[in-house]
Amino acid sequence: MSADAAVKYVTETTPEEIERVKEWINTEDYKEKNFARQALVIAPPHACQPLGAQLAAHGFEGTLPFVHGSQGCASYYRSTLNRHFREPAPAVSDAMTEDGAVFGGQNNLHEGLENAIALYKPKMVAIFTSCMPEIIGDDLTAFIKNARLKGFLANDFPAPYANTPSFNGSHIHGYDAMLLSILQTLTDGKALEGRCTGRLNLIAGCDFNTGNYREYARILKEFGIPVTLLADISESFDSPCDGTYHVYPGGTKLDDAADSINGKATITVGPYATPKTFTWIKDTYAGKHVAMPMPMGVAKTDAFIMKIAELFGKPVPESLKAERGRAVDAMTDAHQYLHGKKFAVYGDPDYLIGYVSFLLEMGAIPHHILCSKGSKKFEKEMQALLDSSLYGKGCTIYMGKDLWHMRSLLVTDPVDAMIGDSHGKFSARDAGIPLFRFGFPIMDRVNKHRYPLIGYQGVVNMVSEIANKFLDIKDETCEPRFFELMR
Ligand code: SF4
Repeated sequence: MSADAAVKYVTETTPEEIERVKEWINTEDYKEKNFARQALVIAPPHACQPLGAQLAAHGFEGTLPFVHGSQGCASYYRSTLNRHFREPAPAVSDAMTEDGAVFGGQNNLHEGLENAIALYKPKMVAIFTSCMPEIIGDDLTAFIKNARLKGFLANDFPAPYANTPSFNGSHIHGYDAMLLSILQTLTDGKALEGRCTGRLNLIAGCDFNTGNYREYARILKEFGIPVTLLADISESFDSPCDGTYHVYPGGTKLDDAADSINGKATITVGPYATPKTFTWIKDTYAGKHVAMPMPMGVAKTDAFIMKIAELFGKPVPESLKAERGRAVDAMTDAHQYLHGKKFAVYGDPDYLIGYVSFLLEMGAIPHHILCSKGSKKFEKEMQALLDSSLYGKGCTIYMGKDLWHMRSLLVTDPVDAMIGDSHGKFSARDAGIPLFRFGFPIMDRVNKHRYPLIGYQGVVNMVSEIANKFLDIKDETCEPRFFELMR
């Protein structure tokens, strides 16, 4: 029997019709219809709020992420983090089912808290919600208060909680809500008049690159500035393989997080991922407060380094000046391979500002910029960034669009490459262009989260990966007479 005979077709669509539609979806006519789409979203490049909340929770010492809601949703956040980092993402769910949906999930939450704390012995439980309890209107504040009254939760046990309704916002909003609640809980009553830790509090934003966290710590070590990295996932999702399973590796020490309220300065480099947290910090934390873009590309890294030097009254270390020189050298060496190349980029606002800054510095053209969940403020900042460069002319920002829109753009107005997460691989394949995997999640390549994209080292990493891929393509596709040793 042939392989074809074993297949039971579920439609009567003829091969000719399949071919016709395959060609039609590459036309301007289809693109127009695709962009007129209102209610349907196809392959949005963002995840739901609780996933971001879980990331924030993993960034604190001994903290157990606790999902109030459906077990399947919890599996989705865990498996996505697990596939990206190739590390466990331990979290629990109170597994609300039909009765919870009808009568409310208070009993699930109370039993879940009692069991999880007894079994997994966390130092803190960070509670957040899936869609179901949000839709039925579960009152987390009352439920947790009752848990303490009824003895399911000790009075002094830290249990920050955040409402993370997924029908609104994306993972960056869940990250913000959870981080805010964790810091509010830990710093409660810890502000001391006249105390200054002398430390910098650094918030990396909703960043899924463990290499970036290590790079921030290294840069500050070069300066000799003590730092408290808030929501530090560098160890949580990149711990050594020593043969023993550790449930809670790494994370910001809870005492350090509590004392961060008395810091000398606080910087967030994820302004679009931490607006609520940062607004609260400005009102509550001692010292100076600075919100600035992720230090991606030379100009944004310069701004970050100079701001640290200014805040702490320290000169820029010679070692960092040398690093800058090497990054500029790496860019110059590779400039000819990126200059004039067109890119399509998509992802979270903070990452997008970084990718575009870097591309413009290289004389590359960020032709299509797509953000599925971004604000007017972001769109304005991105437009100003494009307007600041010759290479930004003619580039278009697509707000509230998804990767199926992106596919239409790629086939009707082609570019040379894409930058974004693994979900773009299907469109990139259809368009016959490379995808540079710099975002989240990256589920089809290994160790990408270990290579920093921030700082001068990040510049070297990005420039090398992109330029070498273009050179690979040239070697693979050129005529034999142009197959050269030197490129
Ligand atoms: S969008 Fe809602 S239902 Fe879907 S995984 Fe996220 S929380 Fe669960």
